[in-house]
Amino acid sequence: MPFCPNCHYEYEASVKACPECKIDLVEKLDDVVPTDEDFVEVYATGTRLEADVIRGILEEEKLPVLVRDTRIFPVLPDWRAEFVIAVPAAQEAAAKKLLEEARADGALGGEGKFLR
Ligand SMILES: [Zn+2]
Repeated sequence: MPFCPNCHYEYEASVKACPECKIDLVEKLDDVVPTDEDFVEVYATGTRLEADVIRGILEEEKLPVLVRDTRIFPVLPDWRAEFVIAVPAAQEAAAKKLLEEARADGALGGEGKFLR
């Protein structure tokens, strides 16, 4: 699925440009995220803001992270949006621990949910 070369979000195949960055999507982000690894989806949240907070938390610990915007028409407002956080399978436990800690200390709101 295509990625935004600027914010690194992953979009549905039907999406051609990043609605946030207003630039064309690319097929691979290998220099940033090792997409040949097996990524597993660990967390979902309803806002891009929280998705960016989560990405920041994980990247700070050097965990590769993908954020998938699951909307078919992401130019529409965030109504019923779901942003899915994916990490390499080998890092799943570490990522879940970090997100649990972030929820416990309030860095992360309670609206998101664990998928695994
Ligand atoms: Zn973007």
